Amino acid sequence: MTVTPHHCISILSKCKNLRTLTQIHASLIKSGADTDPFFAGKLLLHGAVAISDGLRYAHRLFLSFPDPDVFMFNTLVRGFSESDSPRNSILTYIEMRKRALAPPDSFSFAFVIKAAANLRCLKIGFQTHCQALTHGLDTHLFVAVTLISMYGECGSVEFARKVFGELPQPNVVAWNAVVTACFRGVDVVGARRIFEAMPVKNLTSWNVMLAGYTKAGELESAKRVFREMLVKDDVSWSTMIVGFAHNGRFDEAFMCFRELQRLEMKPNEVSLTGVLSACSQAGAFAFGKAIHGFIVKSGFSWIVSVNNALIDVYSKCGNVAMARLVFDSMREKTSIVSWASMIAGLAMYGHGKEAIELFDDMIEFGVRPDGISFISLLYACSHAGLIEEGEEWFRKMTTVYDIEPAIEHYGCMVDLYGRAGKLQKAYDFICRMPTPQNAIIWRTLLGACSIHGNIELAEKVKQRLSELDPNNSGDHVLLSNVYAVAGKWKDVAAIRRSMAEQKMKKSPGWSLVEVDKTMYSFVAGEKRNEIRVEAYEKLNEIIPRLRIEAGYVPEGANALHDIQEEEKEDQVTKHSEKLALAFGMARLPKETTIRIVKNLRICRDCHTVMKLTSKVYGVEIVVRDRSRFHSFKNGSCTCRDYW
Ligand code: ZN
Ligand code: ZN
Repeated sequence: MTVTPHHCISILSKCKNLRTLTQIHASLIKSGADTDPFFAGKLLLHGAVAISDGLRYAHRLFLSFPDPDVFMFNTLVRGFSESDSPRNSILTYIEMRKRALAPPDSFSFAFVIKAAANLRCLKIGFQTHCQALTHGLDTHLFVAVTLISMYGECGSVEFARKVFGELPQPNVVAWNAVVTACFRGVDVVGARRIFEAMPVKNLTSWNVMLAGYTKAGELESAKRVFREMLVKDDVSWSTMIVGFAHNGRFDEAFMCFRELQRLEMKPNEVSLTGVLSACSQAGAFAFGKAIHGFIVKSGFSWIVSVNNALIDVYSKCGNVAMARLVFDSMREKTSIVSWASMIAGLAMYGHGKEAIELFDDMIEFGVRPDGISFISLLYACSHAGLIEEGEEWFRKMTTVYDIEPAIEHYGCMVDLYGRAGKLQKAYDFICRMPTPQNAIIWRTLLGACSIHGNIELAEKVKQRLSELDPNNSGDHVLLSNVYAVAGKWKDVAAIRRSMAEQKMKKSPGWSLVEVDKTMYSFVAGEKRNEIRVEAYEKLNEIIPRLRIEAGYVPEGANALHDIQEEEKEDQVTKHSEKLALAFGMARLPKETTIRIVKNLRICRDCHTVMKLTSKVYGVEIVVRDRSRFHSFKNGSCTCRDYW
């Protein structure tokens, strides 16, 4: 059967990938129509714009034409403008001008301006604006809208408003663009005024307001707009969910998602990953699991980003087996994010050997490791005490994979040595670093000195830290912990005094616990409320029982991390993770694992209480603190008292 060129073009609209495109191209060559500008132009457009992996092919196709026309040039300028190499778009445009074909049209300008916006290059954007002006196209609606967006993207709100102001009859797209530009330039008031002045608003106008407010962290305004909206689409919903999740308002993210389900609307990929990100940040295991069920039932399980988010939820909720189940069931494992999330999950749980094995599998699978996956790997080595493995991978990173170690990788190595008590080695390692040292690196070592009680080195490190970051209260606390462990109470008091004099504020400790798919939070030093009273009542029953049945003696020394003044037993009992534990014990059925998320590192005393509670009451407790998981069962913890 002979295939006519017209037939080829008609199947083009159904072509979704490069493979099919090359087949269509082959048929065109056979019929001899491949040099016809009409057919070639269609093929070029589809490769450059419609499919995701066809741009390079389109470029080669373009180069094979002796004299491409303006349409072909524009197609390529457009394709490159939205690719990850927008610079090529500008180079193609310059080539077009050099060849002195027909003058550039509105499309040429709009695409080049878009490339400038994606490059965040105001200079190129400005020059193109001037050229459009000389061709009388600067107030052409299509060009003007991209100009407004470009100026917004480059942080030049003033110019964006000026271009808008010169439009005789702006359409709704132009109005939306100028509102977006204002938000980009953090001119929230300006954005609202323009929005209110709009003669006609479409759904996008409302969504632009939602996105702007949530990005600016003005969630109350976003909620007001959301309520006022008569029609909402999936973008409106996902914007709210992601906005809540990003701003740490997890409960509201959950509520919003529940409402979406209640209305029987189909959530999009962004809503799903947004609500899952809230779950993983809050450690909301039960809610995350419920969403997992929904995802499977509604047929979303093929979406790679949704699976990656699920792996993250289970990892961060301390259920590494479920994370693995999701990972293993993924049909497509080509995304490095899937591997890196799984490796990070194993690492956080202290499964160092498994993390390294999976890293090997990844390389075998043909996925090239990136800098982030190396952070997870080195973290795994340090938390499992695998020093030699860590050193070897750190070396291989540059010699085999050609990845320049970033400050985070150096930090992992310092942590690796520090945890193992090789403090001098860590110190020497920092001194030999080729990149400039930062406060975080020294702070990691100071933390290690605190755990291993090395006062001499701690003082030396503190000196370096004071030079880099003199006003950090955390460092003072760490040093005072070193003194406290060694029983040097005078020095502790001196540090406390100097902190008080410099009026440093410590970030308050908080803990979250999930009961009936709701997150309950306990913040250090907050006022009495019903939840706190309930927790205290239960705690007053737990602590005496631990004393009698397990010989618990409260510790003062290392408990300094989130209390203000002298370390009294009374204050140690007020630590938020103890309250979260007590509340979980009071509310949850006995066989349920109590899952707690804590923003700071768990202190030694709370750690002891968790261990003893797991034994005396026969419950399982999982605590995610700032750096890792602790899984308590039968009186011991998976961290082997080493964190
Ligand atoms: Zn504590
Ligand atoms: Zn532990």
